[in-house]
Amino acid sequence: MDVRIGFGYDSHQLAENISLFLGGVQIPHAKGCVAHSDGDVLIHALCDALLGAAALPDIGSQFPDNNPDFKNIDSKILLSRVVELIENENFTINNIDITLLVEKPKIAPYREQIVRSLQTILKLDLNRISLKAKTNEKMGFVGREEGVVAYAVVTLIKNERERK
Ligand code: MG
Repeated sequence: MDVRIGFGYDSHQLAENISLFLGGVQIPHAKGCVAHSDGDVLIHALCDALLGAAALPDIGSQFPDNNPDFKNIDSKILLSRVVELIENENFTINNIDITLLVEKPKIAPYREQIVRSLQTILKLDLNRISLKAKTNEKMGFVGREEGVVAYAVVTLIKNERERK
């Protein structure tokens, strides 16, 4: 089997009076991610992991932040486009594993909703989607609630017939 591993990282600054989106779910909070798009740090890390596994150019190259088309764009649309790109390269997503670093708010109450949101776009079984959220124990920029971080690891399987 031709298995490809991809890794993605993203971070965003938090600021007041911005909506917080994580994994395509709007989460009630006083702060949200400063960004050209909707600032969905989780989806951005996941997109880079998927693109990386397929050895395709990264999210910043696919969706430049100086392009007005992507201003305030719903990151679920970006993820859908990334899924199309990797399917065009004859890859199937095998599994995804995401770790979020967020001091506040607590993610646990929204975890299932986020997983289902990702499942809808990725068309993956629930047992192939892992999402963990942690605080940074009050350390660093995450701990001071100045920003959030997401890490994603994925595996893709190259379709045998089309292998190149
Ligand atoms: Mg980002």
